[in-house]
Amino acid sequence: MFKWFRDECTLPWLLTIDDDMVPLSETDELVHKDAPIVATRAWAKTGAESHTGPGEFSMACLKVHRSVVEAIEPPWFAFEYTDDGAAQTSCECGYFARKARAAGFECVHAGKIGHRITVTVVPGENGPEMIFDPAMARINKQFLSRNKP
Ligand SMILES: [Zn+2]
Repeated sequence: MFKWFRDECTLPWLLTIDDDMVPLSETDELVHKDAPIVATRAWAKTGAESHTGPGEFSMACLKVHRSVVEAIEPPWFAFEYTDDGAAQTSCECGYFARKARAAGFECVHAGKIGHRITVTVVPGENGPEMIFDPAMARINKQFLSRNKP
Protein backbone atom coordinates (compact mmCIF):
# COMPACT_ATOMS: atom_id res chain seq x y z
CA MET A 1 0.00 0.00 0.00
CA PHE A 2 2.83 2.44 0.81
CA LYS A 3 4.48 1.64 -2.54
CA TRP A 4 1.18 2.31 -4.35
CA PHE A 5 0.72 5.53 -2.37
CA ARG A 6 4.24 6.75 -3.18
CA ASP A 7 4.30 5.72 -6.85
CA GLU A 8 0.73 5.96 -8.13
CA CYS A 9 -1.38 8.09 -5.80
CA THR A 10 -1.13 11.89 -5.86
CA LEU A 11 -3.06 12.66 -2.66
CA PRO A 12 -1.15 14.21 0.27
CA TRP A 13 -2.34 11.86 3.05
CA LEU A 14 -2.60 8.12 3.57
CA LEU A 15 -4.93 6.78 6.28
CA THR A 16 -4.51 3.13 7.25
CA ILE A 17 -6.83 1.24 9.59
CA ASP A 18 -6.38 -2.47 10.36
CA ASP A 19 -9.43 -4.57 9.47
CA ASP A 20 -10.01 -5.54 13.10
CA MET A 21 -10.11 -1.96 14.38
CA VAL A 22 -13.39 -0.28 15.27
CA PRO A 23 -13.50 3.51 14.79
CA LEU A 24 -15.07 5.50 17.64
CA SER A 25 -16.23 9.09 17.75
CA GLU A 26 -12.84 9.84 19.39
CA THR A 27 -11.06 8.45 16.30
CA ASP A 28 -12.11 11.62 14.46
CA GLU A 29 -9.39 13.59 16.32
CA LEU A 30 -6.79 11.84 14.16
CA VAL A 31 -8.35 13.17 10.97
CA HIS A 32 -8.20 16.78 12.16
CA LYS A 33 -4.69 16.69 13.65
CA ASP A 34 -2.09 18.32 11.40
CA ALA A 35 1.24 16.52 11.77
CA PRO A 36 3.25 14.32 9.38
CA ILE A 37 2.52 11.15 11.40
CA VAL A 38 -0.60 10.87 13.54
CA ALA A 39 -1.63 7.68 15.35
CA THR A 40 -4.56 6.95 17.63
CA ARG A 41 -4.03 5.30 20.98
CA ALA A 42 -4.76 1.61 20.46
CA TRP A 43 -5.18 -1.50 22.56
CA ALA A 44 -3.58 -4.83 21.72
CA LYS A 45 -5.44 -8.14 21.66
CA THR A 46 -4.03 -8.74 25.14
CA GLY A 47 -6.24 -5.92 26.43
CA ALA A 48 -3.25 -3.66 27.19
CA GLU A 49 -2.55 -0.36 25.47
CA SER A 50 0.03 -0.97 22.78
CA HIS A 51 3.18 0.94 21.93
CA THR A 52 3.23 3.34 24.88
CA GLY A 53 6.99 3.94 25.12
CA PRO A 54 8.72 7.15 24.07
CA GLY A 55 8.45 7.66 20.32
CA GLU A 56 6.35 4.53 19.90
CA PHE A 57 3.04 4.32 18.09
CA SER A 58 0.69 1.65 16.80
CA MET A 59 0.06 1.32 13.10
CA ALA A 60 -3.45 0.03 13.80
CA CYS A 61 -4.85 3.44 12.83
CA LEU A 62 -2.37 5.81 11.31
CA LYS A 63 -2.40 8.96 9.19
CA VAL A 64 0.82 9.59 7.29
CA HIS A 65 1.79 12.52 5.09
CA ARG A 66 3.32 11.89 1.69
CA SER A 67 6.58 13.54 2.82
CA VAL A 68 7.12 10.71 5.34
CA VAL A 69 6.45 7.92 2.85
CA GLU A 70 8.80 9.52 0.32
CA ALA A 71 11.56 10.17 2.88
CA ILE A 72 11.77 6.55 4.09
CA GLU A 73 13.61 4.04 1.94
CA PRO A 74 11.64 0.78 1.57
CA PRO A 75 10.98 -1.60 3.11
CA TRP A 76 8.74 0.54 5.28
CA PHE A 77 7.74 -2.46 7.42
CA ALA A 78 9.26 -5.65 8.75
CA PHE A 79 8.73 -8.08 11.58
CA GLU A 80 11.98 -8.66 13.45
CA TYR A 81 12.99 -11.87 15.24
CA THR A 82 15.69 -13.14 17.57
CA ASP A 83 18.79 -14.56 15.86
CA ASP A 84 17.43 -18.09 16.20
CA GLY A 85 14.06 -17.02 14.76
CA ALA A 86 12.22 -18.43 17.74
CA ALA A 87 10.66 -15.20 19.00
CA GLN A 88 9.42 -11.98 17.49
CA THR A 89 11.23 -8.91 18.85
CA SER A 90 9.38 -6.18 16.99
CA CYS A 91 6.17 -5.77 15.07
CA GLU A 92 5.81 -3.64 11.96
CA CYS A 93 4.96 -0.61 14.11
CA GLY A 94 8.32 -0.57 15.88
CA TYR A 95 10.23 -1.03 12.64
CA PHE A 96 8.39 1.81 10.88
CA ALA A 97 8.65 4.09 13.95
CA ARG A 98 12.45 3.67 14.06
CA LYS A 99 12.79 4.40 10.35
CA ALA A 100 10.50 7.43 10.65
CA ARG A 101 12.51 8.82 13.60
CA ALA A 102 15.76 8.24 11.68
CA ALA A 103 14.25 10.28 8.82
CA GLY A 104 13.44 13.10 11.26
CA PHE A 105 9.73 12.48 11.89
CA GLU A 106 8.03 12.11 15.26
CA CYS A 107 4.54 10.76 15.72
CA VAL A 108 1.75 12.76 17.34
CA HIS A 109 -1.04 10.85 19.06
CA ALA A 110 -4.64 11.97 18.59
CA GLY A 111 -7.84 10.14 19.44
CA LYS A 112 -8.56 6.51 20.23
CA ILE A 113 -9.77 3.48 18.31
CA GLY A 114 -11.40 0.22 19.36
CA HIS A 115 -9.99 -3.23 18.64
CA ARG A 116 -12.18 -6.25 17.91
CA ILE A 117 -10.86 -9.10 20.04
CA THR A 118 -11.66 -12.67 20.96
CA VAL A 119 -13.97 -13.22 23.91
CA THR A 120 -15.73 -16.27 25.29
CA VAL A 121 -19.51 -16.03 25.41
CA VAL A 122 -21.22 -17.93 28.22
CA PRO A 123 -24.87 -18.16 29.28
CA GLY A 124 -25.54 -15.58 32.00
CA GLU A 125 -28.48 -15.01 34.31
CA ASN A 126 -29.80 -12.17 32.11
CA GLY A 127 -28.52 -13.30 28.73
CA PRO A 128 -25.12 -13.92 27.20
CA GLU A 129 -22.05 -12.76 29.11
CA MET A 130 -18.72 -12.14 27.46
CA ILE A 131 -15.51 -13.08 29.22
CA PHE A 132 -12.19 -11.63 28.15
CA ASP A 133 -9.35 -14.03 28.91
CA PRO A 134 -5.95 -12.27 28.65
CA ALA A 135 -4.08 -15.59 28.65
CA MET A 136 -6.14 -16.87 25.71
CA ALA A 137 -5.67 -13.54 23.90
CA ARG A 138 -1.87 -13.88 24.20
CA ILE A 139 -1.98 -17.46 22.88
CA ASN A 140 -4.18 -16.34 19.97
CA LYS A 141 -1.76 -13.49 19.15
CA GLN A 142 1.24 -15.86 19.24
CA PHE A 143 -0.56 -18.32 16.99
CA LEU A 144 -1.43 -15.59 14.49
CA SER A 145 2.12 -14.19 14.38
CA ARG A 146 3.60 -17.69 13.87
CA ASN A 147 1.26 -18.41 10.98
CA LYS A 148 1.58 -15.19 8.99
CA PRO A 149 2.50 -15.81 5.38
ZN1 LIG B 1 2.59 -3.05 16.64
